[in-house]
Amino acid sequence: MKKILFVSHCILNTASKVVLYNKEEIDAEEDLRLRFLSKAIASGIQIIQLPCPEFTLYGPRRWGHTSNQFDNVFFRNHCRNILKPVIDQMKEYLRNEDFFEVIGVLGVDGSPSCGVDYTCFADWYGSFDCREGLEDTLSSCKLIKNSGVFMDVLKEMLKEEHIDDKIKMTSLYAPEPEKCLDLIK
Ligand code: SF4
Repeated sequence: MKKILFVSHCILNTASKVVLYNKEEIDAEEDLRLRFLSKAIASGIQIIQLPCPEFTLYGPRRWGHTSNQFDNVFFRNHCRNILKPVIDQMKEYLRNEDFFEVIGVLGVDGSPSCGVDYTCFADWYGSFDCREGLEDTLSSCKLIKNSGVFMDVLKEMLKEEHIDDKIKMTSLYAPEPEKCLDLIK
């Protein structure tokens, strides 16, 4: 029986990530990513890469954003469109349960899009020109217990298809490494 895992795009391709990210955090995430992937590949897990909603809308030169900036109907529609073929794949693997076991979806906590348990939140908007208190605005960004917008849309779509109880969702998050490593015990 083949085990199937769906992962956020940058778990396999870190070139899709926002650049100039906090170095300490990205080093810890990279360390866990490599541990996770080595273990998953050695365990024979088949890995399916989800599309990156941010790269496919804003490209590689985008700013870092917060989840509430993406929480609008346009970004949600984009997520929905790129997730449609993924939902079809999930349904087909689930329908053939004598061949496959879908072990879940692995997102990236902290991301405004791909966080599953945690995402970033701040009241960010507007131009940088003539702005006062930029440091205060930037430092108001917090990690909150909620999903990023892409994962929230995926949850909605899984519910609509009545397969939400069959797909476990968790995430890569360096402070809680067991969340991803337990998937491939
Ligand atoms: S949007 Fe998701 S897949 Fe794209 S870089 Fe961010 S966490 Fe990775």
